[in-house]
Amino acid sequence: MMYVLGLEGTAHTLGVGIIDGGFNCLSDVKKTYQPRQGGINPRDASQYMAENMQSTVIEALSEAGIGLEDLSLVSFSQGPGLGPCLRTVATAARTISLAHEKPILGVNHCVAHIEVGRVFGGVDKPLVVYVSGANTQVIRLNEGRYRVFGETLDIGLGNMLDKFGRYAGLPHPAGPKIEKLARQGEKYIPLPYVVKGTDLSFSGLLTAAQQKHQRGESLEHVCFSLQETSFSMLCEVAERALAHLKADSVLLTGGVGNNKRLQEMLILMASEHDAQFTHPKGFMGDNGTMIAIAALKMHKAGVKMTLEDTQIESKQRTDDIKISW
Ligand code: AMP
Ligand code: MG
Repeated sequence: MMYVLGLEGTAHTLGVGIIDGGFNCLSDVKKTYQPRQGGINPRDASQYMAENMQSTVIEALSEAGIGLEDLSLVSFSQGPGLGPCLRTVATAARTISLAHEKPILGVNHCVAHIEVGRVFGGVDKPLVVYVSGANTQVIRLNEGRYRVFGETLDIGLGNMLDKFGRYAGLPHPAGPKIEKLARQGEKYIPLPYVVKGTDLSFSGLLTAAQQKHQRGESLEHVCFSLQETSFSMLCEVAERALAHLKADSVLLTGGVGNNKRLQEMLILMASEHDAQFTHPKGFMGDNGTMIAIAALKMHKAGVKMTLEDTQIESKQRTDDIKISW
């Protein structure tokens, strides 16, 4: 039997996943760094990953019922992400690979979010709506690359929500708390809706939302309006891409995709175009399993890496990667 180890560490989450050769998840352990104050401090986050690496790997192995010697392939998140975190996780992967003489593959984090969605969501060539902390992209596979149809021009949707949460005194990550507050809001406060062609911009929206709150609008109404505005912007770009590219399915992936209101809006949009909607439930946010899944696809397609090839790529883009599977 084949076993693949996936190590994820690009920002806040240290994830260790193990899958078998049939893409079944055998274990998926996550440890998430909580900033003491403010946003993610890259040095503290990488320190957290280093401290928790050994115990997390051991926990994942024991849950899967295997040892390091049983692994067929070791994989890790190579980029994009925070340099110190990427280096910590790459070092752990190289150590396991060298000590146990196992092949190693560095995986693009965004591609991994898409691959877990294709496998667990059961879709082949979907329109991908990828929304995480740092990334917001509408993507479609075309001629061997994940082509970015539209993306944020400034901050990612998740980071925008987290920044608003920080301003409002909500603990990190604020996305889920904003979702709860938004459910209690009902008054729509007009906020800047910024779609430029097929790209998006969220920074002006963030500032305006803070100002509305400072001028006396309730946090619930502001959270509601912030979600309605930013999610509508994303749906507009996704709808344009869906109609233009004639995709038959919409795949939502990334941590912000946990949001039920965003899911509801995309389900409605997809159904109006007779497209299927899907998402990898339980594997939306950063996790090690998605790294292992992408690595297994790469391995089956014949991709090989030497140790020199495993240098981290903190600014690697989704469309830099040749998709040969
Ligand atoms: P990721 O980087 O893919 O792990 O996604 C992390 C981002 O997802 C953070 O910015 C969170 O605030 C955001 N997030 C997680 N759950 C939700 C939710 N229910 N609603 C909105 N954002 C969320
Ligand atoms: Mg992510």
